[in-house]
Amino acid sequence: MAPEPVKQARKPQDPCIICVAITGSITGKHHNPAVPLSISEQIESTHEAFEAGASIVHCHVRDDEGAPTSDPQRFALLQQGLLKHCPGLIIQFSTGGRSGAGHERGGMLPLQPDMASLTVGSNNFPTRIYENSPDLVDWLSLEMLAHDIRPEVEIFDLSHIFKAAEMQAAGRFNGPPHVQFVMGVKNAMPLDRDVFDFYLETTRRLLPDATWCGAGIGRDQIVMNEWCVSEGGHARTGLEDNVRMDKTTLAPSNAALVRRLIEVCHAHDREPATPAEARALLHLPERKAA
Ligand code: MG
Repeated sequence: MAPEPVKQARKPQDPCIICVAITGSITGKHHNPAVPLSISEQIESTHEAFEAGASIVHCHVRDDEGAPTSDPQRFALLQQGLLKHCPGLIIQFSTGGRSGAGHERGGMLPLQPDMASLTVGSNNFPTRIYENSPDLVDWLSLEMLAHDIRPEVEIFDLSHIFKAAEMQAAGRFNGPPHVQFVMGVKNAMPLDRDVFDFYLETTRRLLPDATWCGAGIGRDQIVMNEWCVSEGGHARTGLEDNVRMDKTTLAPSNAALVRRLIEVCHAHDREPATPAEARALLHLPERKAA
């Protein structure tokens, strides 16, 4: 008689680090009144998302008219509020290109957030070029290194994974990079499962120490959440990328999108990471002083 097949124990998965991208630089109240624009709205919305289970907040700031800005004073006010109200939360500032040009994009880095986004190459966006010249990428990465900030490397294209590997080999990161695959931005890489799988395979080959996550735009957000959670990665949600729960329902808050992502985690037998677990997974130190 054939022996009983040995039941394969399912490999326990790491908890899922949930990043909430609260505001962005494009979405406004006319898209969804829940998009937090003022600093106080941003702090309140983040606090609610943090209580729901987010362990990273990805931050952009706006001016009094709601336009994107790189103003370091605004970032400082937001950081102070988050440090006070969301103990342990990993604070990530955006150095994305919609809110400034050249070195202005890194003007807030001396505030020493835990993390900052770093796009390592150029590509097209809906109405313009997302310009990240080699010189600017170099400068931003050196600023992050000087201020002991972990980059989240934004992957808009396959070449960006190779650039990240080159930068890691050159000692440009203060620890293993956290990479984020961005899919679904018009005129950039669409959501595509074969490309996603190849991104992942290439990242595992070239950046074996990297942690990874993914962002999908609009209705692609929930699909990307599914792909990342089921493949053992980390995940991003929030009103920056998507303002709806479904075709007909606006998301009532960032926290509601976090709760929806946690349902995806539970469907795959994963738990959201606590901030302490997220710091351990990312090899980040305990909360930096304000
Ligand atoms: Mg952003």
